[in-house]
Amino acid sequence: MEGSSRTALERLHKSGITATDIATQFWCERQMELNCLHKPAPTKAMQSGARMHDAWQAAVYVPLTVEPRNYPDVLYKIAYENYTTIRTLLQKNVGRELMVYGSVHGYRVSGKIDELQLRGGKVAIVEDKTVGSGAKVDDAHTLPHRVQIMLYRKLLDEIRRRSYSYDNFSNVYKLKSARLSEEFQKGIRELDIKREFTDLESMWKTMFEEIHHLPELSDDLEIRYTDRRSREKTADILVKYDPGELDRDLAYVMGYWRGERESQPVPEGERWKCKPCKFFGNECKVWWTGD
Ligand code: SF4
Repeated sequence: MEGSSRTALERLHKSGITATDIATQFWCERQMELNCLHKPAPTKAMQSGARMHDAWQAAVYVPLTVEPRNYPDVLYKIAYENYTTIRTLLQKNVGRELMVYGSVHGYRVSGKIDELQLRGGKVAIVEDKTVGSGAKVDDAHTLPHRVQIMLYRKLLDEIRRRSYSYDNFSNVYKLKSARLSEEFQKGIRELDIKREFTDLESMWKTMFEEIHHLPELSDDLEIRYTDRRSREKTADILVKYDPGELDRDLAYVMGYWRGERESQPVPEGERWKCKPCKFFGNECKVWWTGD
């Protein structure tokens, strides 16, 4: 794979990095890059996992039902649903699906937290993962999820402490010049939504304010693994937030995004990851022997 003086974002035609991209770099960085370049159709396992996430989400909150027509409408919907998630968390001690945004080494980063819980007066982050029947939940499998959940903790806390503010977000996503579509505005006016929430900037400001007022975040992070077929919980991993470890991990991955190095394939000792990889023997022949 060719090296390049362009940054990885430019080569991959991306405007920002997701927490999932960063997590996948700790499974196989080359696979993450190929995923971005080839955007494969969702696999059956991914579709099944998405259905389970939808069912868990529907159990605790009602999403905004107005259909977005343009990008500002989508941004509005995200802010509104985030606001609802936080209100649900404060009322029912649990809220699902919170989008978080921030900046890592100057790069735009975003991600979606699966669940927040109020425990002992603190906000705890919970991440749900679905696995195949009999799948191992060992260090190699949990490392990407460890990094991902610690990154969520960092992004949410930076909003909560105002080190990533509404103004930062508004400048990056150009909220001042964004215009909601007429159809979408009409749709939200017809719902029972407070008058001050019918404007995109006010909606995001309110959502940021809600996060500023959240209680302290817990350092105890939880990853729940559920069997995709039986839907039974197979493992529960507790991760202690370690900002030093996360900073080292982020410093490593950002070398790739800055274009300082090529994407790394798995090392020889982890060739077992290649066999189920959709790129094995196709776009990636690093460990392909042709049989
Ligand atoms: S085949 Fe192996 S090295 Fe190549 S992208 Fe897939 S997991 Fe990574």
